[in-house]
Amino acid sequence: MGSIFSHSGMPAAMGAIGNSAAPARDDAQGVLYGVSLGPGEPELITLKALRILERSEVICCPGTPDRMGGMASLALDILRALGLPESRFRVMAVPMFRNPEIAGKKYPEHFSAIAGACREGKTVAVASVGDAGFFSTFTPFMQMAAREGIMCRVVAGVPAFLAAGAAACIPLALHDDRVTVVAMAAGTEELERAVQAGGTVVVMKLSTIRKELVPWLERSGHPFLYAEKVGMPGEFITSDIRQLRRRSIPYFSLLICSRHCPQPAQNIEHKEA
Ligand code: SAH
Repeated sequence: MGSIFSHSGMPAAMGAIGNSAAPARDDAQGVLYGVSLGPGEPELITLKALRILERSEVICCPGTPDRMGGMASLALDILRALGLPESRFRVMAVPMFRNPEIAGKKYPEHFSAIAGACREGKTVAVASVGDAGFFSTFTPFMQMAAREGIMCRVVAGVPAFLAAGAAACIPLALHDDRVTVVAMAAGTEELERAVQAGGTVVVMKLSTIRKELVPWLERSGHPFLYAEKVGMPGEFITSDIRQLRRRSIPYFSLLICSRHCPQPAQNIEHKEA
């Protein structure tokens, strides 16, 4: 891969990392921004991300086709809540398949529209829920931009698992704690191994193990925090296994297993969707 560009000053270009040895910027070309929206609560976007969105001529975000023939997009919901102009929004259909090769088939098509707008001199933002560099749909665009010589920057943001810890008022790590993040776990055996290794275990894309989740937590008795749609309408957070039994475990849910989570008998804040 050519280069990764991300720093707070001038945009770097091909062949450079950070601000070292960056060739002069071609002013005729626009910049592609990966903009982190934070987990959902509009106030958890950064000032910088908001500023970039406000001055972007095109604002792209991922969406999944819904049953009504429309497009479901939490990123779009956040953009709307921020009061940005609707006319700049472009929702990109990004199918959610476990196999990255199938899921990635649409990216080149979306990227050619993005690259076209950048070459016309436009500032283009690709908005991502949470942080734009953490299991994000922005990453393939960043890699394609590097290959095609499109200037690219990433604006950091608050990832959902940190927002979940904050919402429940628990620390995620202290002193020499290790933190392991698992996404698309193959099964609960993998999670059990991670918990046994010690520290805090964060499980993203939890819906891939939705059937095994409750039986495993019941068997193991691990203290946990389950967080669904953190910072969004329908937010639901619990440490109570009885509450978890009734949940459908949607895509926007995650689990934290840690000694810092409330002990199984305790029940923390519980909000019904
Ligand atoms: N870039 C995001 C992660 C995207 S991967 C971030 O930095 O957080 C998608 C996964 O993130 C979901 O399956 C879910 O596990 C988690 N996620 C993202 N937003 C969430 C939210 N508001 N509430 C709960 N989980 C969320």
